[in-house]
Amino acid sequence: MKLISACLLGIKCPWDGTDKCSDENAIKLLADEVLIPVCPEQLGGLKTPRPPQEIQGGSGEDVLAGRCTVKNINGDDVTQKFIRGAKQTLRIAKLFKVSQFIGKSRSPSCGCGEIYDGSFSKKRADGDGVTAALLKRNGVEVISEEDLRE
Ligand code: SF4
Repeated sequence: MKLISACLLGIKCPWDGTDKCSDENAIKLLADEVLIPVCPEQLGGLKTPRPPQEIQGGSGEDVLAGRCTVKNINGDDVTQKFIRGAKQTLRIAKLFKVSQFIGKSRSPSCGCGEIYDGSFSKKRADGDGVTAALLKRNGVEVISEEDLRE
């Protein structure tokens, strides 16, 4: 049993309310595994659709440590909602005793190893999303849908 970013299964939870993140390899995995879909941003209380959001000048680990914030493109601070969503996702991971999370690449919540840099210009930066960082801290392995292709 694994957790997975719900948007990878075609659930319309991304910021723009579309199924654009649907991933064929993730859906194929359902034939062999139980995948629990979660959307940390919705679990944190954010609406769908919502403005795009990025971590500002740091990583998910920095957000958890209080060293930086998450803002949407309008400049609104959504840090507490991201942290709440990460904690709710961790609770689900513990309830179901999952050992792996398949997260949407480069998401400020679910991204693993690489995110966007906070400038809303598609520039990439090293680091995990907020939920990915909290899960890793708690011993959950985090991979992305891109790892499923390898
Ligand atoms: Fe929700 Fe994560 Fe997908 Fe963003 S990447 S829409 S937070 S499941």
